[in-house]
Amino acid sequence: MLANGMTFEEESLVWLENILPTLAEGFSSLPPNSPAPLDHALMMAALQETAIRLRENYPYFHPLYAGQMLKPPHPIARAAYALATWINPNNHALDGGRASSKMEFEAVQALAAMFGWTTHLGHLTGGGTFANLEALWIAGQIHPRKTILASDQAHYTHRRISGVLQLPFDSVATDPRGRLDLNVLESRLQKGDIGMVVVTLGTTALGAVDPLPEILALRDRFGFRIHADAAYGGYFTLAANLDAEAAESFAALPAVDSIVVDPHKHGLQPYGCGCILFQDSSVGRFYKHDSPYTYFTSDHLHLGEITLECSRAGASAVALWATQRALPLILGGEFAGMLQSCRSAALELYLRLSASAMFIAPIRPQLDIVVWAVNGATVEESSARARAVFDAAAGRDLHLALVLLPRSCFPKNTWPTTVASPQSPTHVQCLRSVLMKPEHLSWIDPIWDRLNAAAEEVLTRTNHSA
Ligand SMILES: *Cc1c(COP(=O)(O)O)cnc(C)c1O
Repeated sequence: MLANGMTFEEESLVWLENILPTLAEGFSSLPPNSPAPLDHALMMAALQETAIRLRENYPYFHPLYAGQMLKPPHPIARAAYALATWINPNNHALDGGRASSKMEFEAVQALAAMFGWTTHLGHLTGGGTFANLEALWIAGQIHPRKTILASDQAHYTHRRISGVLQLPFDSVATDPRGRLDLNVLESRLQKGDIGMVVVTLGTTALGAVDPLPEILALRDRFGFRIHADAAYGGYFTLAANLDAEAAESFAALPAVDSIVVDPHKHGLQPYGCGCILFQDSSVGRFYKHDSPYTYFTSDHLHLGEITLECSRAGASAVALWATQRALPLILGGEFAGMLQSCRSAALELYLRLSASAMFIAPIRPQLDIVVWAVNGATVEESSARARAVFDAAAGRDLHLALVLLPRSCFPKNTWPTTVASPQSPTHVQCLRSVLMKPEHLSWIDPIWDRLNAAAEEVLTRTNHSA
């Protein structure tokens, strides 16, 4: 009955069916509640339409989807989330989510411990954007009117959130590998007025890891808060196969003031799960409110008092908790192995691209994002070819992403026939692949074959029409 030709995993459906009675048993003393009978035909018709509408998606769950930052939830997260919806707890307050609030505390504590923190204040959020908003909001409470500084490769949300919070924002340039440029940072710090520097551990476009140890040294001299935006990259702190430079930045994480990590990016969770962590739990004082609607049942700060959002899905906390039970956040564990294999997949693709005459891969990946240009006589030709390869790959069910890279990321003689002039393009259209699925390493061959076939098709076509 379930057979879908192995397109989707089905085990979680079986688990769910087997475990629902265990949940129900906890409420067996209640008098039977007979809900109004459901109209099966009507419900199935609505579901039928729903399933057909959902087919319009790209196959985000499949390893041949190797484009944007999308990763399917683990079956355990899917099952635990669905299980929780039979209760539908609200983690705004202990009364609304009695069990799931405790599970949130425990899950968040495990995230803090992963970053080496023994004390913290933190909670889950709807995503990285809201988690970052809380970090910037606290910075503004502690250093009112001072500037928030981030690199030009930091997530665009920091500039926008600074606007929302009416905090001044400034950005500093990055080096050719997309990492925050320390010289530019230092001269900006000399001008003064910086309240917080946002350090990105894994930029969204390139997976670049900012040099945190050196930024910590600058903090000693200039005094500012440090927020680590590790929404995408945070979990790589468990990976044992990073280059020394990136590993040193992750090792320095315990010294920052706040960290954002998104369990819905690399943490195998369905969407709606970000996390903000503060090292100093006394920042809880800024959150305090005494709303007459909030139901207080305990004396210590409860989640409704340390979040800016009110209603939040208890199911998100339950899913994260269950996932961490099955796949603990430990060095050398199965979960850490999944991150290592993503990094290995990215390195493998990078090495193949570097050895090919059709492509130019200018940046050795620090995490699991690979970017590359398609060879061409001019920047314009390379850019046009990248767009064509993107389409030709999609025609072969290989879904990649596009990214614009500044010419300065490439060696000077990459396009020898075009002199850099004010008229020539400053950016090159490139291809980008986020290899964030645990299966990606074993799918490198089929991905590579499809990419090569797509590029050969495009190069043959464009060489003839030239
Ligand atoms: C994804 C991302 C964000 C935004 O997080 P959402 O969960 O999409 O709201 C912020 N910063 C970085 C570095 C990210 O990769």
